[in-house]
Amino acid sequence: MSLGRRQWLKVTGSVGAGLALGELGFQEKEARAATRAMKLAGAKEYTTACNFCSCGCGMVAHVQDGKLVDLEGDPGHAVNQGALCTKGAAMRATHESPRRVKVPMYRAPGSDRWQEITWDQAYEKIARKIQEVRDRTWVATQRDGDVEYPVNRTDAIALLGGAQNTNEECYLFNKMGRLFGTSYIEHQARL
Ligand code: SF4
Repeated sequence: MSLGRRQWLKVTGSVGAGLALGELGFQEKEARAATRAMKLAGAKEYTTACNFCSCGCGMVAHVQDGKLVDLEGDPGHAVNQGALCTKGAAMRATHESPRRVKVPMYRAPGSDRWQEITWDQAYEKIARKIQEVRDRTWVATQRDGDVEYPVNRTDAIALLGGAQNTNEECYLFNKMGRLFGTSYIEHQARL
């Protein structure tokens, strides 16, 4: 690396100033905290959860001008109390990755490529598929000896919840599963 005259003066000036401040009792930790507070000034704060494993560690996200500028463990969260493992600490990289999938993708039968579709198209396809599988596999009654009982279920559909689902979402998720006629409702945290 080569430095120009101006850059050299800047570097040596910064080092000199750093040494001088250190001698005056300037605390690096406090300076870092103050710098961080300045960087986040004006940013909106949102709570969220890590999306990697089933622990559901809480996070605080700072957003400025529609852009995520900071993501860290939530000190007020009962699960992790501010701590994050290496996966959680690196989660911001997945948010910013150009390979992140943000729209529904569809690969037609026999095709070798994925294509973007709208959310409405995706809902339509999923709903039709669920209806078709449910109708085809529906079990209305079950015989036990001489008696035939109504059971009204399908064994062909299962639902799996994610680590970020709230209690309220899980409640609705369960209701939806019962409407489909399946008793196979699981949660990632139990796997
Ligand atoms: S921070 Fe680590 S332990 Fe916590 S939810 Fe994310 S992956 Fe799991």
